[in-house]
Amino acid sequence: MTAPQQIQPPTACILSIGDELVLGTTLDTNGRVLSIALREAGLDVIEHRTVRDDRVAIVDALQSLASIASVIISTGGLGPTDDDLTRDALNEIIDHNALQIEDALARADLDTWFAGRGRTMAAINLRQAMRPRSANIIRNREGTAPGLVATIGTCRVYCLPGPPREMIPMLESDVLPAVRPAGALMIAKRTLGSFGIGESALAELLGERMTRGREPAVGTTASGSVVSLQVVARGADASARADAEMTACMAAVAPYGFAAVDASLASSLLMECRARGRTLAVAESCTGGLIGSMLTAVPGSSDVFHGGWITYSNAMKEAHLGVSPQLIAQHGAVSQETVMAMAEGACARSGASLAISVSGVAGPGGGTAEKPVGTVWIGLHDTQLGTRARRFVFPGERDIVRDRAAKTALQLARWMLRGEDASMIWERAGERADAHTGARADVQHSKRTS
Ligand code: AMP
Ligand code: MG
Repeated sequence: MTAPQQIQPPTACILSIGDELVLGTTLDTNGRVLSIALREAGLDVIEHRTVRDDRVAIVDALQSLASIASVIISTGGLGPTDDDLTRDALNEIIDHNALQIEDALARADLDTWFAGRGRTMAAINLRQAMRPRSANIIRNREGTAPGLVATIGTCRVYCLPGPPREMIPMLESDVLPAVRPAGALMIAKRTLGSFGIGESALAELLGERMTRGREPAVGTTASGSVVSLQVVARGADASARADAEMTACMAAVAPYGFAAVDASLASSLLMECRARGRTLAVAESCTGGLIGSMLTAVPGSSDVFHGGWITYSNAMKEAHLGVSPQLIAQHGAVSQETVMAMAEGACARSGASLAISVSGVAGPGGGTAEKPVGTVWIGLHDTQLGTRARRFVFPGERDIVRDRAAKTALQLARWMLRGEDASMIWERAGERADAHTGARADVQHSKRTS
């Protein structure tokens, strides 16, 4: 590998504009997205600033940041209303408040935008086609507010709209290509999600791959019970070396790893179902539709996901999934017998080939010595592979228990289809029940054929 080139990266500042950001009612996600993207593009981000919708404050911030950085990216304040002051602030600095001009292309884009939606444009929208004479516009294909680009002293300033779904495409198509320094160090990043294992146990599986200073670098972060793993390679062949490292990491952390982080557990399961010709149904109790929600959040899930039931009461479990009242009376609603019957009923009644069921005590009330808060049984029935159930005790508040239960169910279904197995951090050794007979077994859970 050739040594990374030593170049002094250009400096960048990020200016977030909006009352809602300063007051804390909206989280400044743009700042984070911009910082990550600029750094990956080879710039050195040296400051974030957040100001209110106040023209003097915006002018001050632009001037002072322009004196210390070679690039400023601002977001927000480009809308059509009176509190959108970025355009005027920029005009004050670069054109001393000269009359702004209507940009022909921006105007044409605005007309097209409203015509395409069959709406008449409000007069105030015309402001969005105006620009300072010394600025240029950046076209916005996702909304009505074009961006602006101008120069303050030696600093290039990009003003982008606030809504992330408008800002990000403009950043990628117009800003990054323009600010990326020539000969910037190549950086390639890969990410992988993992679920069911703690961060330290994952680090053990990765061993010396995580040694600080190693190239490529491997790191982990945890969020929403998903531990993600990042590989960052720098310099020549960064992309190929990042891919090779990720392949090795995936092998090291199997079966916990699932697709890339931006693809969810749900989308990984859907891909697995698709590859194996399965269709899916859910029968949820304490997760109250979370699993269905995670699955339907994935575009195109309808080819796999049939639907399901939220059977919160025993009566609903009996009436809609065919769980026998005697079985619930004997074993309880939170039991392996009940979740197995729920999964089998869900398959039978939906026509899906694989069903996931969940029944548990999400808390804060309802726990007993035998079934403490956080106890959740997860059942799976597959028309080819049989029925299984596993018991978990999830620590945490109600929301966390529910989220972990839903994600665990998705991961278990994925493992079932892939013929993979492992223990999860929320299982106690010896507490995995044999699904067929009810006998306890440390490692093996049996399969029941329907
Ligand atoms: P604006 O361009 O100022 O009209 O911003 C419109 C909307 O974009 C705001 O109401 C916010 O919901 C969103 N927004 C603005 N700035 C940010 C930011 N820094 N991070 C995330 N969302 C933002
Ligand atoms: Mg605003």
